[in-house]
Order: sequence, then structure tokens, then C-alpha cells
Amino acid sequence: MFKQRKTKNSKNHSELIKTLLHSLPKEEIIYEPEELSVYECDGLTAFKVLPLAVVIPQKIEEILVILSACKRFGVPIVVRGGGTGLSGGATPVEGGIVLSLSKFNQILEIDPVNRIARVEPGVTNMQVSQSAASYGLYFAPDPSSQIACTIGGNIAENAGGIHCLKYGLTVNNVLAIKMMTVEGEIVSIGNVGGESPGCDLLSLIVGSEGMLGIVIEATLRLVPKPECAKLVVGCFDDVTKASKTVSQIIASGIVPAGLEIMDKLVIEAVQSYIQVGFPTSAAAVLLCELDGMLEEVEEEYRLVEQMMIQMGAKEIIISKNEEERLLLWKARKSAFPAAGRISPDYYCMDGTIPRKSLAFVLKRIAELAAQYNLRVGNVFHAGDGNIHPLILYDNSIAGEMERVESLGEKILELCVEVGGSITGEHGVGLEKLGPMCFQFSLEEIQQFHRLKRALDPNALLNPGKAIPTLHRCAEFGKMHVHQGQIAFAGIERF
Ligand SMILES: Cc1cc2nc3c(=O)[nH]c(=O)nc-3n(C[C@H](O)[C@H](O)[C@H](O)COP(=O)(O)OP(=O)(O)OC[C@H]3O[C@@H](n4cnc5c(N)ncnc54)[C@H](O)[C@@H]3O)c2cc1C
Repeated sequence: MFKQRKTKNSKNHSELIKTLLHSLPKEEIIYEPEELSVYECDGLTAFKVLPLAVVIPQKIEEILVILSACKRFGVPIVVRGGGTGLSGGATPVEGGIVLSLSKFNQILEIDPVNRIARVEPGVTNMQVSQSAASYGLYFAPDPSSQIACTIGGNIAENAGGIHCLKYGLTVNNVLAIKMMTVEGEIVSIGNVGGESPGCDLLSLIVGSEGMLGIVIEATLRLVPKPECAKLVVGCFDDVTKASKTVSQIIASGIVPAGLEIMDKLVIEAVQSYIQVGFPTSAAAVLLCELDGMLEEVEEEYRLVEQMMIQMGAKEIIISKNEEERLLLWKARKSAFPAAGRISPDYYCMDGTIPRKSLAFVLKRIAELAAQYNLRVGNVFHAGDGNIHPLILYDNSIAGEMERVESLGEKILELCVEVGGSITGEHGVGLEKLGPMCFQFSLEEIQQFHRLKRALDPNALLNPGKAIPTLHRCAEFGKMHVHQGQIAFAGIERF
């Protein structure tokens, strides 16, 4: 847990507040400690830091004023969208300000002919699809937090969701952005036509966790709503059978719109929250959504149903209409809050593994959970191998949080061991600075630092997030191999 220390830079801090109060409307600045606590963390509540101030501008020119004042007084800036991040990306930096973009919440244009939406960064993910619905279009990336998370946050985290297996992550659905650099320049990156010559800066910025620039506008790809969508749910008495069915479906050439697994613990939690008829006796349910033209969906859902039966499904539920399909997805999307109802605390992990390793990894997670004497539920994007183990715990029990962290680290190590990654969609933030050291070599981490310095030489934008210091990596045992490189100039400031 982070603790607020007495500021070392108090003079500069009070000068910054004075400058902001002088240049911006008073109601846009929050600096009373009791009001700041709302912003002390994001969805990862284990990390809490009170910011120096929160600034909520309404105009682009005001962001410029804020950047210039922060630069003058050497004060770090953490951009905040909806604050739903799960890796501590929007957690304030000690002695820094939070720049909330919640007032930049306008849909600027829906162009049904070119199937694009131009939006401000504080627009929520759900708002985009709602605004495009009358044209029969929607924004495909659909994180379960879509009611509250913003497009700025989705871009910064390269957010995913249930339908990313077929339609791609945020990076595949953003065509262009306008970004303000730390120097206050506004640059256009990407192209609405989809093709942009030169280095692919758009892919660099998507997923950069607010460390390289501030996204102030985005042009998004919209996709047509499919003519038909059907959800097939296979209920299995063994999670391995459900996992193997995932590979079977993909190997058959079918590309489902969504392919998700929930295990017994999560089924029970969800059923006690929203009763949708998932059998609580099942060890796992596999949700497979097929969408497209009516005939295509009819053919594919029958094939999937057959495969599920062949692989040992004890029961099959098929959505009879749109209302039922949406209700079943609502249940799946409620898995995190449902876990919150059966345990005082839960820690949602995020890692990626090759699909073929699903059965092995789930078995290892169960063994590790038993070893650590902690309950772990699994609900995840099985089609793209993006696992979300939910570790249930009670923070009021002394030492339990440490055990949870240690188990979490073991799970991420396992993901890397089988050829996967320490994150699939939630980003690195503060949470995974340690695991970054076992996924990347020191040389690779140095390259990240060089990139960061090229765009933000004074380390003002979200410093200390996403890229571990070399000392941190040394703690993970890499220093002895690369002793000479630890002196790399300037790196430790980031
Ligand atoms: C219940 C629940 C379910 C979730 N389900 C999913 C899921 O299915 N898939 C998924 O991918 N994630 C999921 N998440 C995680 C989270 O919602 C996403 O990471 C989301 O993209 C964060 O958006 P936000 O607006 O809340 O960003 P914040 O949390 O405010 O910020 C996240 C990061 O983005 C940066 N940032 C925000 N706006 C900008 C900007 N305009 N310019 C530059 N940087 C910016 C911040 O500095 C920070 O580093 C879930 C979270 C919760 C609580």
C-alpha cells in the first residue's frame, strides 16, 4: 500500500496551485484534502495516493495552461478518464496533479457513410455505441466496464472485451487520434482512411498508458450490427473439457464473436446475483456467440452445439431471442461485481496464454491456489487466451494481501512460461511493474525508457508507471547478468 509522504517540493506545489487558481475558473480545481480522496486510486484499490490537486478543464486551451504550469514547477501529471482501470494507471503520483478529462464528453460526429465516430476522450465506451445505434452501427471493443470507462482510457490501455476475438482490440478499431504532447503541441496521428505512411505512431500511442501524450480526440471505426446473433452455452462437469472445446471450435474454422469460460466458483457467484439459469452443479460453462447472416449463424450454431456435446457438455442453453442473449451476456459481464458479493475483497488478474495451454494453466492455477490456501475463480476471454483469475481474500486478515500478491505473481510467471504475456487488456500501471521484469530483458526495458524520454524528456506524464526502473528489475535477479548497464544515464528517474 502506498502512503502519502510529506511533500519535498512544497514551495513549487503552492506556486502551482496559485498559478492554476489565477489562470483557470476556480470550480475546475480541487485541492482540499477531503475532496481529493475520491481520486486517490482507480479500480485497483490496493494502491492509494492523494494527489496534490485535481484539475477538471473544459477547454483544450486550459489543458495547455495546465501543462505549461506543471512543466514550470516540475509537477507530474496523471491523466484520468473514468478511473475504472484495474492496474493503477490512473493512480495519482505523489506530489503530482490529476488531469481529469471527464468534461470532454462530446460525440463530435457520427458518419454512417464512412462508418466512423469522432469523439472527445471523456466519452464513455457505451455512449459511442448508443449514439451509433440509430444507424445500425456500433463500436466493437466492449469492456465489461463500458458504462463508465472512457475512450481516452480505452485507448491508453488498449482495452478489450467479449467481442474482441472476432473484431479486434481497441488498437484495431481506432483510426486516428489528436494528441497533445507534453510540450503542448497538438499532433494528428493515423488516418481515417486506415492507411498512414511512415512509422506507425498510432500503434505506439494505443496502450501507452498516458505516458507519452494526452489523447484529446479520437476517430473510431464503427461496425454494422450483425443481421443475427445467437449465444450457445455449453455446461461441462470438467473445466478441462470446456477448455479443449475452445480449441476444437477455433480449429473448425468458425470465428465466434465471443468465446468465454466461467468456472464453478464464478457460476455460483453470478447465479446468486442474476438468476439466468446457469447450472450451479456445472464445473464450467462455455459461452459461444455466433453472429452474421441468418443462414450462416443457423449453420454454425448447430455445429458448435454438436462439438460441445461430443466434448462432453451435460447441458446446452441456446438464446431464444435477443432479450435472452443480452441477459446471458449481462450475467457474464457481472462476474466481477458478483465476486465482490461472495468475498470481502477480490483481486482480478489479467494475463494472456496460447489457447492450447488453457487446460494446463487452469490446472496449475488450481494447484497454486490450494498451495496458497486461497480461493480462485476463473472468468475469461477463452477464445483469445486472455485469462482473468479472481483471487478472493480478506484484506483485514494480517498477511493475506501479501499471499495474494505472491500467488498473483506466480500466475503471471506461469503465463510467460507457456509463451503468453503478463497482461491481455488491463495494462501494466503500477500493478505489474515487477512482472514486466520477467517478461522483458534489461535491454528491452532500456528501449522502453529511451522511447519514454524521447516523448517526455522531463518525465512529467504518468511517471513511474508501466516501465520498471532497472533497480526494480535487479530485484528480480537480472542485475548480476547486466551489471554494467545499470548506470544507463537518466533511466532511474522514470
Ligand atoms: C468491473 C470492471 C470490468 C472491466 N472489464 C474490462 C474488460 O472487459 N476489458 C478491459 O480491457 N478492461 C476492463 N476493465 C478495466 C478498465 O475499465 C479499462 O482499462 C478501461 O479502458 C479504463 O478506462 P478509464 O476511462 O476508466 O481509464 P482510467 O482508469 O481513468 O485510466 C486508465 C489509463 O489511461 C490513461 N488515460 C485516460 N485517459 C487518457 C487520455 N485521454 N489520454 C492519455 N491517457 C489517458 C490514464 O492515465 C491511465 O493510465 C474493467 C474494469 C472494471 C472495474
